[in-house]
Amino acid sequence: MPPFVTSVLERALPYWGRRIHGFDDPAVCMTGVETRTSAPLRMGRNEERVSPTVGGFYPMGEGAGYAGGIMSAALDGAETAILCMAKYAKPN
Ligand SMILES: Cc1cc2nc3c(=O)[nH]c(=O)nc-3n(C[C@H](O)[C@H](O)[C@H](O)COP(=O)(O)OP(=O)(O)OC[C@H]3O[C@@H](n4cnc5c(N)ncnc54)[C@H](O)[C@@H]3O)c2cc1C
Repeated sequence: MPPFVTSVLERALPYWGRRIHGFDDPAVCMTGVETRTSAPLRMGRNEERVSPTVGGFYPMGEGAGYAGGIMSAALDGAETAILCMAKYAKPN
């Protein structure tokens, strides 16, 4: 990784070692960082979570730039689904 990344990691790992016991334990053989670099962009969406340029299109989850892992992807999808259900529910 380039120096601007490694220099931050050098400071970050001891920081997290102080916050989470064992995080920077010398016996750990590999430490991975989870980032949003799998989707280094974010599709636009309004407060109803609809794309402002493509009607009826709901950008969500990791590929759209709203999640960086399993939990955040699941929650973003669930929250969007709840909004859709409320919006398109048949009136009683
Ligand atoms: C090797 C690996 C390890 C990981 N480990 C972890 C971990 O330990 N913890 C963690 O929190 N996260 C982990 N992740 C990240 C996590 O898997 C993702 O953040 C999460 O799955 C994103 O969910 P998503 O629903 O947004 O996208 P995805 O799970 O990618 O779902 C997108 C879906 O859309 C479908 N699709 C794509 N294009 C189209 C199309 N044109 N038409 C119809 N369907 C389409 C795809 O087939 C896919 O089913 C890992 C990822 C990888 C690759």
